[in-house]
Amino acid sequence: MNHQGDPGTERRRWGEVCGKLRGGGGKLPMVTQVGELFTGVNNFLTKVIGEGGVQRMWDQVLSEVAEKVGPIQTETWLKPIRPLMLREDILHLEVPNALFRDWLLENIMPTLQETLVNVLGHVVHITFHIATKKQGELFPSTEEKEAGKPDAPRSTTKKNGLVVNYTFSTFIVGGGNQFAHAAARAVAEGPGKNYNPLFIYGGVGLGKTHLINAIGHEAIVKQGCKSVFYLSSESFTNELISHLRRDRMDEFKSKFRQADVLILDDVQFLSGRERTQEEFFHTFNTLHQSHKQIILTSDKFPNEIDGLEERLRNRFESGLIADIQPPDLETRVAILQKKAQLKRIPLPQEVAIFIATHVTANVRELEGGLTKLEAFSSLTKNPITVELAHQVLQNLMKSGKEKEKDVSIEMVQKSVCKYFGIRVADLTSKKRTQFVAFPRQVAMFLCRKLAGASYPMIGVRFGGKDHTTALYACVAIEKRLKEEEELRTVLVRIEHLVYGNEE
Ligand code: ADP
Ligand code: MG
Repeated sequence: MNHQGDPGTERRRWGEVCGKLRGGGGKLPMVTQVGELFTGVNNFLTKVIGEGGVQRMWDQVLSEVAEKVGPIQTETWLKPIRPLMLREDILHLEVPNALFRDWLLENIMPTLQETLVNVLGHVVHITFHIATKKQGELFPSTEEKEAGKPDAPRSTTKKNGLVVNYTFSTFIVGGGNQFAHAAARAVAEGPGKNYNPLFIYGGVGLGKTHLINAIGHEAIVKQGCKSVFYLSSESFTNELISHLRRDRMDEFKSKFRQADVLILDDVQFLSGRERTQEEFFHTFNTLHQSHKQIILTSDKFPNEIDGLEERLRNRFESGLIADIQPPDLETRVAILQKKAQLKRIPLPQEVAIFIATHVTANVRELEGGLTKLEAFSSLTKNPITVELAHQVLQNLMKSGKEKEKDVSIEMVQKSVCKYFGIRVADLTSKKRTQFVAFPRQVAMFLCRKLAGASYPMIGVRFGGKDHTTALYACVAIEKRLKEEEELRTVLVRIEHLVYGNEE
């Protein structure tokens, strides 16, 4: 970054920039304010392109980017951006919220940067500011609460720390979480009686926090437990520190030791925190001895948590340990449908299947995909369709795309046969009955789409047929796809078989 260029060079450069904007030579146009900003922080004078100039520059950038990314993306994601100023080599842009910023960062940066170089003639860095109420400020506050810790924005939490919507009724039971769910139910029905402690472990975004909150709600509502605490291990540590600082440890001890149910989330974060571990050890013992329920979660099995005292590890392993595995396709679809129903999002089944097929990492991403799709759909006033999902979720689907590279013709053939219940020999035979002809067309189409195979190659691998047969098959399927929505669902299901996510 060039902070302190010599004034002549600086002026020439701005001149070039502005000249470019007008499509003319290097003279500085009157409309562009080259101002001087007195910064309160450093008290130094620096050159900026003020609002009028930066707006013109931005308009130019927008019109070029629009040609590259298309009108929908431009209207939805680029038009709401407000250019604040170009100062030094940093372009400050204001976006309505964190969703915009994240989308822009994930999807548009290379195109944007390339266009800026075209327009300005040199590289500039981009800084996004989330809009605050104080519009008109040159430097809106960059404090972004949303951008905090991953679990920070739990908007609807109760006094006892429980997240309101995380109940059993909104939790979908399926492959991957059946056991943990059954254990959670048992504990909720008899806190302190069944499994104590209950230790749930599993990867990020798989529903641990949801499930243990559900236990908390149930314990209050159905079992009449008066004192239920839910908190993250981070909060537990923070409370401890705060009580220590104020010399109020007695208060801390009595607070947690009188709990009917104590739920501590993400205990892997206790790692290496000796004082917290010691305090928790005593709390644990007191509660356990008086048959009060303790519920813990972690992203690891107890003996895999480094920096955890042996005596705590033993305690953690002394009750029931239940794991949560990633959900299977059906469960993912059901979760999406549940979330859509709760948020009143009209989500056609084929779109749910499409998202669930391509977003496989965890439930949080799945939900993120749905939110993104809904935002996009309502902003552009387009209905939620498979096409729209494809367009909007490209980024989340990357892992799927990467897998596509490795798909072979055999894999497609096998999966198609498995789906239709026929043999590969049928597919490569000369038979023309509808029973075989349609699956063959589907297989050829998917060989092209997923394995990137050429028409002649497909012809050869399907029993030495001519390349026009493969071509015809692909055209035929494409045509039917436009008219038959169910066919899309069929293809999505077969794709899933191809990627081996489903038996
Ligand atoms: P973890 O604590 O394991 O990282 P969370 O409990 O925070 O995951 O889950 C992430 C998101 O996914 C939450 O919004 C949660 O409601 C949702 N979720 C996870 N599993 C399920 C499920 N089986 N049914 C419904 N929603 C789920
Ligand atoms: Mg969690």
